[in-house]
Amino acid sequence: MPELPEVENVCRGLAEFFKVHSQIESVLVQSPKLRYPIPKKVKELKAVSVKRVHRRAKYIVIDLGSVCILNHLGMTGSWRIATCSSEIKHDHLALKMGPKTFLVYNDPRRFGYISIVDVNEVQKCRWFKHLGVEPLSADFTASYLFKIARHKKQPIKALLMDQKNVVGIGNIYAAEALFLAKVKPTRVSHKLKFLECEAIVTAVKEVLDQSIQSGGTTIKDYRTVYGDVGGFVTQLNVYGRYKEPCRACKNLIRKKVIAGRSTFWCSKCQR
Ligand SMILES: [Zn+2]
Repeated sequence: MPELPEVENVCRGLAEFFKVHSQIESVLVQSPKLRYPIPKKVKELKAVSVKRVHRRAKYIVIDLGSVCILNHLGMTGSWRIATCSSEIKHDHLALKMGPKTFLVYNDPRRFGYISIVDVNEVQKCRWFKHLGVEPLSADFTASYLFKIARHKKQPIKALLMDQKNVVGIGNIYAAEALFLAKVKPTRVSHKLKFLECEAIVTAVKEVLDQSIQSGGTTIKDYRTVYGDVGGFVTQLNVYGRYKEPCRACKNLIRKKVIAGRSTFWCSKCQR
């Protein structure tokens, strides 16, 4: 499932594309059935220009001036460029940008969705109103994390993955950040010391930054608009490395399934 660095890279690719093709002539909806059906209003868009593309949490926000198209990639959503309408088959939606230019959205497992909201309603819309702070912003600090953690009895990994606390961190980056911070993922949140929260916040920012620079992590489906895969997979320290030697101490990486998600850590480096 794409996490923050992957969505950020898709956004950057879209921004590059819209720099050259900023006018949406029309929208073709071939199959509205995603996790939530594509609203009719999206189909009715005609001759609108893209002002800006940005990311909020794991959402892509395409700003059209008075309204924004919101897209969540779910597990397998992706955008690609097509040069002919005959290339658009079994896809969910295509933005027609010119006679030979289409931006096509496809989502085989249909966990993603596309919606449309008024530009003034974005922050308080149903998708955004419960979102926590952006991990790469100045709002995500050790004091912030410590304050939340103090009242929670859940494992720190679950706390980091809860989008109400901090957004965009999923299974991969929670595991990687906790490795860098030397904190075991199963540690109970309210017992964490301030210095440990500080280490976690620094590690989260570091791991997300590095992954964005490497183009994200491709485990299976994730691709950028230009079809590139993410290179961060070679830099993973613990995620997906069960029984492989820890890069720091050679101890074998452990794995445990918690709440249906595989959790990886080094029992020597992480306490
Ligand atoms: Zn280790």
